[in-house]
Amino acid sequence: MSEGLNRLTIAEARRLLSAREISAHELTRACLDRIAALEPSLNAFVTVCEREALEQADAADRRLAAGGAPALCGIPLAIKDIFATRGVRTTCASRILADFVPAYDATVIARLRSEGAVFLGKTNMDEFAMGSSTENSAFGPTPNPYNRERVAGGSSGGSAAAVAAAECLGALGTDTGGSIREPAAFCGVVGLKPTYSRVSRYGVIAYASSLDQVGPFAKCVTDAAIMLRVLAGIDPRDATCTARPVPDYEQALGAGVKGLRIGVPHEFFVEGMQPEVEAAVRGALDHYRSLGAETVAVSLPHTGYAIACYYLIATAEASANLARYDGVRYGLRGAAGDLLALYCRSRAAGFGAEVKRRIMLGTFALSAGYYDAYYLKAQKVRTLIRADFERAFAQCDVIVAPTAPTTAFRIGEKIADPLQMYLSDIFTISVNLAGLPAMVLPCGYDGDGLPIGLQLIAPAFGEQRMLQVADALERSGRVERREPAI
Ligand code: GLN
Repeated sequence: MSEGLNRLTIAEARRLLSAREISAHELTRACLDRIAALEPSLNAFVTVCEREALEQADAADRRLAAGGAPALCGIPLAIKDIFATRGVRTTCASRILADFVPAYDATVIARLRSEGAVFLGKTNMDEFAMGSSTENSAFGPTPNPYNRERVAGGSSGGSAAAVAAAECLGALGTDTGGSIREPAAFCGVVGLKPTYSRVSRYGVIAYASSLDQVGPFAKCVTDAAIMLRVLAGIDPRDATCTARPVPDYEQALGAGVKGLRIGVPHEFFVEGMQPEVEAAVRGALDHYRSLGAETVAVSLPHTGYAIACYYLIATAEASANLARYDGVRYGLRGAAGDLLALYCRSRAAGFGAEVKRRIMLGTFALSAGYYDAYYLKAQKVRTLIRADFERAFAQCDVIVAPTAPTTAFRIGEKIADPLQMYLSDIFTISVNLAGLPAMVLPCGYDGDGLPIGLQLIAPAFGEQRMLQVADALERSGRVERREPAI
């Protein structure tokens, strides 16, 4: 009876749930069955919460029966294992937090809980969100649902794969330098990184606090709009969170792109990128023109410095944020000795190689005598990158670009070469440095059948316009949606 319900979009499920044509219990059962069937090989989840999910579904059914239930009531979601979830272990895919059970919910989790959403479990990721492939997980990599020899992308690879494989209806991720957008592109789903400050980060395990932002993964643009409305809004527990009112993002959909100006930055079409990726993005631009938009050439001249700038700022912030894992307050505790030995043993055993590399790079960049040469200079470059976008948005409403230079690469292909791995962020990180909103939606497939993602970037708090432009492409039916063959 519940067969196939896991394939519904949130918008479809919401309609069927409120008409009482399906129950939240059936819908949740369908997702749990799918998870049970796929997980042995997909590894998108670190923790599955079967009993809790069914209890939440039953509670949602009671609310739905009473009428007037909120938008996400009874909708089964997957949560990146970076969000604190009360009573459910939260590992950040690290050995150091392998047994950490938070006593509280992150603000976004509390919001979803009060909507009546169902939490299926916690998804796999790169340890502490550091990576682009989910290979830096203490729980093993998540393969790409379209091809098990390829990566799902990272760091929110588990969430992207879970949505692509229809193990859930939507998922939560975080994006510090591309961790929602790159896996969304690699797995052929929609992913949205809101403006910095739009969504609370309270209870989200910190990586780089001036860059981290929370956002949704979804099967379609409408679902991303539905989720964003619930996630966004002021939070007294996060001082960086804006008081700006939250618009009804769904209302922006359907307006088309007639008369809109789409900026095309030539710095985002680089030599060495996979020709099929460039062709798919240029094809989408042609299509936008046929729908009545105008395309204008814009320039983001400091793009070439973005990776160096990001990997100084992000590692510097990470080295400070990760100092709290000392074997005393949280998680894994190494064999006792004197205090310094306890710190050293706990951290040596608890952190993986990439996390250690980032802590060392960041500590170095912040150390006396080097601060001005590295960290301070990177902050100045960050200002230039932000100014590039301000100039570009004087000429256009949204920017369209590729998400990554290639489609999903092979598992193992880049893991031994950190610089190669960092280069896969080339089109995503300047958005985080500038604090802007951006989203990804499918725009085609390469010759091996791997998805290609189109990236849209908007001015600060331009999420409505961005969703409108994304929706126009999706609604036009230009991109046929191929589900992964699993
Ligand atoms: N790949 C980037 C990094 O490793 C971005 C990760 C992220 O957005 N969390 O830092």
